[in-house]
Amino acid sequence: MARMQSPSSINTFKQCPRKYYYRYIARLPSKPSIHLVRGTIAHSVLEDFFDYSDRQSDFRTGLLRHALQLLEKHWAENEKELLALDETPQEIAAYKEETQLMIIRWTQHFLERLELRMRAGLSFQEAFKTLTPKREEEYRDEELNVRGYIDAIQEHDGVVLLDYKTSKKPEITAEYRLQLGIYALLYLRRHNKVPDRVGIHFLRHDELLMEVNDELLLDAQFEIEQVHMMTRSVDISDYPKQESPLCNWCDYYEECFGKRP
Ligand code: SF4
Repeated sequence: MARMQSPSSINTFKQCPRKYYYRYIARLPSKPSIHLVRGTIAHSVLEDFFDYSDRQSDFRTGLLRHALQLLEKHWAENEKELLALDETPQEIAAYKEETQLMIIRWTQHFLERLELRMRAGLSFQEAFKTLTPKREEEYRDEELNVRGYIDAIQEHDGVVLLDYKTSKKPEITAEYRLQLGIYALLYLRRHNKVPDRVGIHFLRHDELLMEVNDELLLDAQFEIEQVHMMTRSVDISDYPKQESPLCNWCDYYEECFGKRP
């Protein structure tokens, strides 16, 4: 039977079939990285951000304080994972500072959109509600055998599916495009409606959106079918190594090439 795939497993296979084998078939552990832990923390902050209930403070100050308090809370909750990383305490502190800037930037972006709606006549509560997305929604399609968690689904003024990224470069790469295409396909199959746009909110930069068209959906369907077909075997020899500069950061370098130089 075909294995349940996700945008991440499909992209792993496309990057290197051997890596897919180690991660999803042999189930070798992967080492947590600061980028992964920090990404999880930032996602949790943005997920909880919309549970805002302060009605006393000025909303600009209140929302910014709320976002930064959430960052403190989630950073503290992940302290054990952060301390287990290879980074020094000084390096971890620098990452925290950088994450604070990302959260401030994201909140400012949110405030701009909020105030735009308020200037158009909505109250704070109404404007906040229209900007509150569905969050971390699981889409699981048993027939396609694919599942994914969509970070934010905005359903006011058209449907927009968003993923948050902490990447340095604000660019929708082929990998991100495929992830978004899979989300759009999952959404279409569940709701019988094509989402209007999909995109990435780059937390260091801004939001990049793209229209959903047939090409995006068909490419996603094609890649899903290809990966199902190519991953039926559990024999390592069916999963060739795809050497690239990315090997230097791969968790399975030693399985492939022995001790690191
Ligand atoms: S080290 Fe390179 S070849 Fe080996 S699994 Fe990782 S990416 Fe693939």
